[in-house]
Amino acid sequence: ERSKLKRLTTARSCTLDEKEVSLQANIELPQDVDQVKAVGADGVGLFRTEFLFMNRDELPDEDEQFEAYRSVARALGNKPVTIRTLDIGADKTARALRGSDRPAPNPALGLRAIRYCLAEPQIFLAQLRAILRASHYGRIRLLIPMLTHASEVDQTLALLEQAKVQLRQSRTKFDEGMEVGGMIEVPAAALAVGHFLQRLDFLSIGTNDLIQYTLAIDRTDETVAHLYDPLHPAVLRLIAQTIQAGQRAGRPVAVCGEMAGDPTFTRLLLGMGLRSFSMHPALLLEVKQQVVMADIQALTGKVSRLLRSDDPERIRELLGRLGEV
Ligand code: PEP
Ligand code: MG
Repeated sequence: ERSKLKRLTTARSCTLDEKEVSLQANIELPQDVDQVKAVGADGVGLFRTEFLFMNRDELPDEDEQFEAYRSVARALGNKPVTIRTLDIGADKTARALRGSDRPAPNPALGLRAIRYCLAEPQIFLAQLRAILRASHYGRIRLLIPMLTHASEVDQTLALLEQAKVQLRQSRTKFDEGMEVGGMIEVPAAALAVGHFLQRLDFLSIGTNDLIQYTLAIDRTDETVAHLYDPLHPAVLRLIAQTIQAGQRAGRPVAVCGEMAGDPTFTRLLLGMGLRSFSMHPALLLEVKQQVVMADIQALTGKVSRLLRSDDPERIRELLGRLGEV
């Protein structure tokens, strides 16, 4: 079984009906790229940069970040590397960051991710400069976490422009065309996705947080873990609507939460129209095995029927039947 999976490493990632599907990897630290290359991923769909900031007493400065981002960009050559800006707060804390000694009343709803970065523009600008500098050495894309308001994109783009001006002044090279995308992981962002499609080059759905915020279930709380259900109809509809809105607007949409790496959901996501998945590299070949056996034409109608159901039992039954096509 293992060697059968291994043989898929170099196989084309496309369905029985010849639809190309991009399978990318999530990483936390630069050294994870070895595993990304070993499984033949199409790129890095999510670099969780907060791990460079965690478990240490001093913040990484701009140069240290630049070197980390550049090493990943170089290792991946012409494949895309999607660098997410600092997603600190809630379940991911860094003692070196200001405010870490004052616990927030409700950290998952507090000053995390893009909210934190916009409140600390000097830290954010240093990261944006480091990412821009690294963009000269590969195909880097920038990804903004936990968007809720269109104004958060506007403010981020203004800071990015400021970082570019600073780099031009010092004659530092960067990719002028670096794409900027946003994470859809707050229900408000999924429901008002037009704001984000207008302003951004691509979207990536973070199902881990989208489920947490849609169902009001703390993703780290064991006592409610049994209620954390990716198949809740509200969650499925938000994901499907986001994918379809992206298609209509001609903007790529990926899924980079844990759902993307669970082979039991691969056919469901393909039937919703998803063509780009990003997951832990250890799961990539299992998902690829599902992709190469899937027939999207046969899946589409069955998935629309599943999405219309409000009955959890029926949804599970219809999901099981997707395996037969
Ligand atoms: C997500 O929320 O699905 C996601 C990919 O981001 P993280 O798990 O790092 O919050
Ligand atoms: Mg998230």
